[in-house]
Amino acid sequence: MGSKKKRSKQARNKQPALPTQGEPQTAGARIVPELNTASPEKCYEIRDAGSKGVGVFATRLIPAGTLITTEKPILTFFQNPISPEDVTKALASRSMTDKQRFANLRTAFDMPNRAKGPLPHASIKRSQEAMNYMRVNSNSIPDKDTSNVYDEMCRFNHSCKVNAHRYGVPSVDVGMQCRAVSDIQEGEEITVCYSVDLYCMTAAERKAAMPMMGYFWECECNICQGPPAQRLVSDMRRRLIRLVKILMLGRDISLGPGVNKLDVQAIRSAAFQKTAQWNEDVRNTIYLFLTATLLDAEGAAMDEVSTMYGQAALTLACHADKVGLARLPAPVLLNIMAWRKRAEELVALSPGSKNDMWVHLRKGLDSVASDGDLS
Ligand SMILES: [Zn+2]
Repeated sequence: MGSKKKRSKQARNKQPALPTQGEPQTAGARIVPELNTASPEKCYEIRDAGSKGVGVFATRLIPAGTLITTEKPILTFFQNPISPEDVTKALASRSMTDKQRFANLRTAFDMPNRAKGPLPHASIKRSQEAMNYMRVNSNSIPDKDTSNVYDEMCRFNHSCKVNAHRYGVPSVDVGMQCRAVSDIQEGEEITVCYSVDLYCMTAAERKAAMPMMGYFWECECNICQGPPAQRLVSDMRRRLIRLVKILMLGRDISLGPGVNKLDVQAIRSAAFQKTAQWNEDVRNTIYLFLTATLLDAEGAAMDEVSTMYGQAALTLACHADKVGLARLPAPVLLNIMAWRKRAEELVALSPGSKNDMWVHLRKGLDSVASDGDLS
């Protein structure tokens, strides 16, 4: 066991920051080995998905964790905003194959059952048409700050309860990968979440907000169209996620058209009154663990979930260190180990750009011995 002074220094060094929007990456080696960018054995097909237009479907059982596909974009834009002229100019320099792949992209505006967009396909100019293709089919790679158009990556339909996750691949220039986050049965549609903001909205709020977010169709997922009781449970979890995020961040990041306004100050003061006697580390641990657990229960395959589990574990370990414990009590150690294990499972399923953050957290957690010794 080190001196009190030494322990305090260690604790400061290990203390994780609470998550913030757009948190920069922490430098360090990546824990996930360089991802295989060669095409894996194809396990999906793109075909008609009824009222959704086209979709991606499993052609065999895809076990959780399987890399479904890796793809480089047809077009990449570094500027923002992007004009219709930018799109046509970029297209002009591409090969005939890429032009054809781009032309083959179907947009929401082309699909009769989903065509609720403001721009009738037949009446728009050619450059505007290309812009629409771009807008509907582009994916951004957050850390690269680019907008990209992919041939197949944009064919995955949205679900509020996903079975796969798309993420940018640092080792492949603005490339994306899609990986199964649960077992996907043969014939089952492979779905991803289009916006993490949706995890803070109830079903009714999503229905109202999604058109404002550019999604001009009604979600047909198992939650939005499933049994009311199941939807109610999901709504309660998502409202709680939003409330706890308000407590962690001090502001509501879920404001927007279609989303019910919450009284942030009233929520914060009520929560503070109930938890005034709590140590700040304990409060942060509970908030982090609660948010991670709720997002996990909603099937959110986000890097944020693994990060929050790791931060909850490390915050608790740091608190024990700060108060001078040489060894973690068994129940605390069990929690820390369970949260770390779940974080590791999620990182393996979703090896996104936040892996660098996990490297930082894991390094801190490595100072907790398997028997709970902190020295
Ligand atoms: Zn849905």
